[in-house]
Amino acid sequence: MNWADFAQWGARIAEWGKTYHETLRDRPVRAKTAPGDIFNALPVKPPQSGENMDAVFADFEKTVMPGITHWQHPRFFAYFPANATPPSMLADFLTTVIAPQCMLWQTSPAATEMETRMIDWLRQSIGLPTDFMGVIQDSASSATLAAVLTMREKTLGWVGNAEGLPGQATLRVYSSIEVHTSVDRAIWVTGIGQDNLVRVPTSGPSRGMDPEALDTAIAADLAAGYRPAGIIASTGGTGTGGSDNIDAVCDVAEKYGLFVHVDAAWAGAAMICPEFRDMWQGVERADSVVFNPHKWLGVQFDCSAHFLRNPDDLVKSLAIQPEFLKTHGKDGVINYSEWSVPLGRRFRALKIWFVLRTYGLGGLQDMIRNHVLWAKELCEAFRATPDYEIVTEPVLSLFTFRYAPAGVVDLDNLNLRLVNAINDDGRIYLTQTRTDDKLVIRFQAGQFSATRDDVMTALTVTDEIAKTLN
Ligand code: PLP
Repeated sequence: MNWADFAQWGARIAEWGKTYHETLRDRPVRAKTAPGDIFNALPVKPPQSGENMDAVFADFEKTVMPGITHWQHPRFFAYFPANATPPSMLADFLTTVIAPQCMLWQTSPAATEMETRMIDWLRQSIGLPTDFMGVIQDSASSATLAAVLTMREKTLGWVGNAEGLPGQATLRVYSSIEVHTSVDRAIWVTGIGQDNLVRVPTSGPSRGMDPEALDTAIAADLAAGYRPAGIIASTGGTGTGGSDNIDAVCDVAEKYGLFVHVDAAWAGAAMICPEFRDMWQGVERADSVVFNPHKWLGVQFDCSAHFLRNPDDLVKSLAIQPEFLKTHGKDGVINYSEWSVPLGRRFRALKIWFVLRTYGLGGLQDMIRNHVLWAKELCEAFRATPDYEIVTEPVLSLFTFRYAPAGVVDLDNLNLRLVNAINDDGRIYLTQTRTDDKLVIRFQAGQFSATRDDVMTALTVTDEIAKTLN
């Protein structure tokens, strides 16, 4: 492909994207293909000679598109959102065109310096104090891994990387059951081991760790010869929005000198609205905080904002400087690859800049406030409809419910059949979770293109389909 063809195809794909988004509402949200359909439609062997782009693009439309679940659909109410707004797509297209590697300051000073400025814009936007600095990680999972590595190394006096874990006292990390599985993975990958992730019982409607139980668990571990390393707190857990009392967690952490990482991957975006900040009161006392602009802020995947009160601890845990990475004479600048596990880094700050400038904080706040308002309205409408029960109350724009007509013994099975039937229907997309040993259906509103009508449709469609089940 030459550059003239590239320009022509770039324009054509932009036009295709416009039509795609304009007609998205008419498509089923979840892909309707069966396992293996796409794999079997792809040739077994790669082509020996090059094909023209028309043929490739025709096959993209014919083979790939039917197998896509439409995450940008206005009635996508499953998981959490992964909004890709037009300015963010344009910024990512530019990044793809320039394709810089942004591991050191000198490998693209603009990327590094914009990252520093954008992280600070985000810090101010969510109300963290000035003593937090940060880095853009590819995902919240990577941020949590980096945080657990830091708590490990700090507790071991920075010898774990060199000596490994054998011979060291067994480390312990504390969290509730409400945290995301990325925490378990971080515990595995850092060699701490699943058995040493201590699950602290939760209490109260916000499903946060019971601070007394946390204190008791740490004291018991110390008495038994374990070495507590840190606490992972949740603000807006994935299943039902479970959130810890960060102030109370930090009181316990301070008593034992432990590192605190707060996973606010989804809910952190809502902290741009000051009225929601009660949810993570005390966050300024944490050591590490992550949230994903790639979920609810319109900055498309991948883009995780990771804030640290003392980045030196993180850098001490992760920096390696072989000769070829030394930036002779330019020390004193930030080399962000020393703040994350991968060396190579995309220019992610550009899409934050494009989104914040085109929507403004006010535009993003309006969007999030609407989602929260509409989710609450929908929750009340479910509550008022016979045969439905609200299982967990709205946390921002997330709540869970189940269909519970009188006389049905196996409600788990009924609700699983219901969510499957809803997703086969395709007008909306929902997912299930398990809480208090009940299978429940999750609803979250977070699509930038959703209207109030789209949100309220979730009840109409659910009830229509529920009535067909027997
Ligand atoms: N933490 C929470 C609370 C999440 O809901 C998720 C994903 O939905 C993650 C972490 C992992 O996010 P990522 O895909 O950015 O690693």
